[in-house]
Amino acid sequence: MAEGYDVVIAGAGIAGCAAAVMFGRQGLRVALVEAHREPSTFKRTCTHFIQPSALPTLQRLGIDRDIEAAGGLRNGFDFWTPYGWITDEAIAPGHAEHGYNIRRSVLDPKLRAMAADTPGVDLLLGHKVIDVLRNESKVIGLVATDVNGGRHELVGRLTVGADGRDSVVAERSGLPGKSSPNGRFGYFAHYTGVRLQTKASSQIWLDGVGVNYTFRNDNDRTVLVAIRPKEELDGFRQDLEGSLLSSFDGLPKAPHMEGASRVSDVFGVINYPGHIQRAAGHGVALSGDAAIVADYLWGVGCGWALQTAEWLVDGTAGPLLRGGDVERGLVRYRRKVRNQLGPHYLMISDYASGRPFNALERLLYAAAVVDPKVAKAFGRVGGRLSSPALVLSPAMLTRMVRARRRAGPPVTVPSPRLPGSEDSELRQVLSGRAAP
Ligand SMILES: Cc1cc2nc3c(=O)[nH]c(=O)nc-3n(C[C@H](O)[C@H](O)[C@H](O)COP(=O)(O)OP(=O)(O)OC[C@H]3O[C@@H](n4cnc5c(N)ncnc54)[C@H](O)[C@@H]3O)c2cc1C
Repeated sequence: MAEGYDVVIAGAGIAGCAAAVMFGRQGLRVALVEAHREPSTFKRTCTHFIQPSALPTLQRLGIDRDIEAAGGLRNGFDFWTPYGWITDEAIAPGHAEHGYNIRRSVLDPKLRAMAADTPGVDLLLGHKVIDVLRNESKVIGLVATDVNGGRHELVGRLTVGADGRDSVVAERSGLPGKSSPNGRFGYFAHYTGVRLQTKASSQIWLDGVGVNYTFRNDNDRTVLVAIRPKEELDGFRQDLEGSLLSSFDGLPKAPHMEGASRVSDVFGVINYPGHIQRAAGHGVALSGDAAIVADYLWGVGCGWALQTAEWLVDGTAGPLLRGGDVERGLVRYRRKVRNQLGPHYLMISDYASGRPFNALERLLYAAAVVDPKVAKAFGRVGGRLSSPALVLSPAMLTRMVRARRRAGPPVTVPSPRLPGSEDSELRQVLSGRAAP
């Protein structure tokens, strides 16, 4: 038998839980339907850098206090390219606008508990969404199966797909979308005891071919990441940890690993195409990865999951409460996603192809090393606080051209030595100490 709610949400990840909390707090009745049985489940393929753009949503939820109490770090990053360092101080002066580094194993269960404790929210664990319910062309709810094979029909005045990048709701509701290829693969692992060589909680190196990061998280967990062109995959796979560590060789201020231990598997993501969907229409809305997946290289997905959840609630809770036109709210939401995130998605997808830096990136990275205003603009676009248009304005382009004349030439970066040739310095240090 069908059960009626105001809102029916597929997926109790970041987007689904955030939306459920905010709808519930407005007095709406919400079904939050999650395939996993365990409330402590979390997303493993993530490097945990939440962008500053999401800070207002985290504060509205009140989860920022929980993140800090759990040891999450207010994040900032030093950013290196062959043109030099763009420092954390220049990128985010005073750190008024920061995000957080917090492991998903900590964040996801906290958000889920917050949703489960919100009056009006029914968290249905162990319920896998298999289809949407329709009344002619309009989506009116979800069909889920439970762990015993029981079939459940959940009817809602609004249906939300927050079920991640392979969203069943997106697919079954027929909203149009398009994908873009990714020319790089990535591997990462968690370590304790890493000594970072700059003051910021995070370091990012883009050498024009590949990318490395070190992200310090709560409880002395540092994620080391290598993202390389797909042509290098076979060689990289011969020794995953050796290759991961070797990829840091030769980078300036690479982390010191003496005494460090690996405390996770080495995770890999081989193929990660971008995807953008029409975010709403005909009774259904998509939030988080279900709506938009951009290359993880830029760490935007968690922030966008939180922000799209908030925009959706703000666009539709009023009509849901007053019996107004929800469809108009969905149009507002869809436009907001497209206008706010579309330009970032285009920029990110273009670089995800695996191409080298283009002329604008060379200009931006060189200028930001010597001009704090350019560095701050770079930080606002990278933190997804401003549109990419900020660095394309005539005034900013003129400034960058002038600054570029003061910048030094780029240094040449040697390709990382893959395992099987000489041992990497970092690997030699760690040898025999890493936990399995
Ligand atoms: C290697 C890698 C590194 C990344 N690093 C970062 C980073 O540093 N910073 C960042 O911001 N982003 C990062 N991301 C992206 C980020 O992980 C995602 O954007 C984010 O998890 C999206 O949140 P979500 O709630 O939309 O989806 P998810 O976190 O995927 O949650 C979806 C939920 O829906 C549930 N679900 C799925 N299907 C069904 C179904 N049929 N029925 C019921 N429930 C279902 C799932 O079990 C899950 O609980 C990274 C991604 C990758 C791959």
